[in-house]
Order: sequence, then structure tokens, then C-alpha cells
Amino acid sequence: MYDFSRCKLCASNAAKPEYKLKKATVYACAACGFHFIDHLDSMPSGLPDETTKDLDRKAWDYIEGKLPANGNQLRKDLLLVKRHLSLSGADCLDIGAGAGMFAHLLAEAGASVHGIEPQGIFREFARLKFGIELNGETIDARHWQKGFAGFFDVVTLWDVLEHVNFPAETLRNAYNVTKHGGWLFLDTPRRDALFYRVGEWSYRVSGGANPLFLESLYSPLPFRHKQIFTLRQLLQLVETIGFSVISVNSSLFRPHNKIVLVCRKP
Ligand SMILES: [Zn+2]
Repeated sequence: MYDFSRCKLCASNAAKPEYKLKKATVYACAACGFHFIDHLDSMPSGLPDETTKDLDRKAWDYIEGKLPANGNQLRKDLLLVKRHLSLSGADCLDIGAGAGMFAHLLAEAGASVHGIEPQGIFREFARLKFGIELNGETIDARHWQKGFAGFFDVVTLWDVLEHVNFPAETLRNAYNVTKHGGWLFLDTPRRDALFYRVGEWSYRVSGGANPLFLESLYSPLPFRHKQIFTLRQLLQLVETIGFSVISVNSSLFRPHNKIVLVCRKP
């Protein structure tokens, strides 16, 4: 059992409950200001017999129905990657590959693609829809850390850092499998954005009764949002790990604001 008074970002024992939401409590670290909820996912075993049983017609239609919107975003993400390097023959790893759409786009662009997806139902979808074999072992596994150390030209983390149990470890593990001179691309929501701050303000003035958007930004359900970075926290983290930040794209004001980060391993 994890002690949530221990900050998931700076590891000091300085985190305290800050916002009590309906289904989760947001902890805030007094040392570094990081916000995270009191919930961790228990990871699926990744055994083959767990993978197929839930992908019935209804689940298939649901996942397939989301592909057009996700695909539009991921095509933009692909253009961002292509602005920085040629994908032809590049070794790419998509962490948190979901239904396999981005892995599919990378493969179409001529890349050699690996993908990680802990949920068997998505791996099965990716296999049947795109013919892509995603791997259920997470990036901390020996399979990646020993077998692919310094291997990848490109590692992508689209909408992943807010979902994983320990985002600093995820980034460190991503760094380890990236080649020197290789690239990291990621996006994640931004906490020091206007609408998050409005939620905090509303929570305070209502004595906790009305957290507005805060309620929808976090969830204790499996694989949902567990933490949200400020821009400064995220930049500090990737630089501490050893990445050079090449570009940052973000807005404080757009409702679906995100931090889009391009980094390189020196
Ligand atoms: Zn901290």
C-alpha cells in the first residue's frame, strides 16, 4: 500500500489532502506543489488468457467509434514528429498505445514500430483492426529496460503521464530506452491553466461543495487521471532526467489545454 503523504514527484513526505472530491482526494505536496490523487492502478498480468474475453461487439463498436476523433489528433501528432525527423526505418515506441492508432500511423509512415498497452482489450483490438501486436508489459519491465536499452529513435507518450501510477519513473524508463540523439514526444493536461484554477477557486469559496472542473479532471477508475503537472514541474522533471527540451507548446486559456513537449536525449 502506497503512503500518499509521500510525494509522487519529489518523494518528500510533505503531501497533504487538499481537495476532497466525490470519489478521490487530491493530495498536494508542500515541498514541490505536485497534485495527485489517492489512487493507484493494480496492473493486469498481461497473460494471454485475459486479453480477449472483454472484446465483444459492444466493446469493439465503442473503441472503433472513438477512432475518428482520436485519429484526427494523432495525425496532427504525427506531423509534429515528422517535422523533427524522417520516420522511414526509424525505431519507434508508442507507450500507452491504446487501440493502436498511432502505432498504425507510424507504421504507415515507414517506421519500425513497438507499442505498449497494458489493457488486453485494446491490444486485441489493435491486432484485429490494424494487424499490430502491442506488448502488455509496461516500460519498467526487464523486457524493455534490458532488451531495448538505448534502442529507440523515437518514444511517444500521448496522454499517458496523467494516467500512470508513477510518472517520474515512466519518464526515466522512457529515457533509458531512448537512443542518444533520439526523440521524446509527449502531451499531457496542464494544471496551471485557467480552468483548473477556476475549479480550485470555486472549491475554496464553496467550502468544498463545488469543485467544478476538478471533479472531471481526476478519477479513481482504472487507467484514468491520477496527477496533473504544471508546465514548470514537467519541464524541471524532464531536464532532471537528462532530456533537452527542444520545443514547448501550450496555452493557459484553451479549455482543452495541453502541454505538448518535444525533447531529445543528448
Ligand atoms: Zn513534492
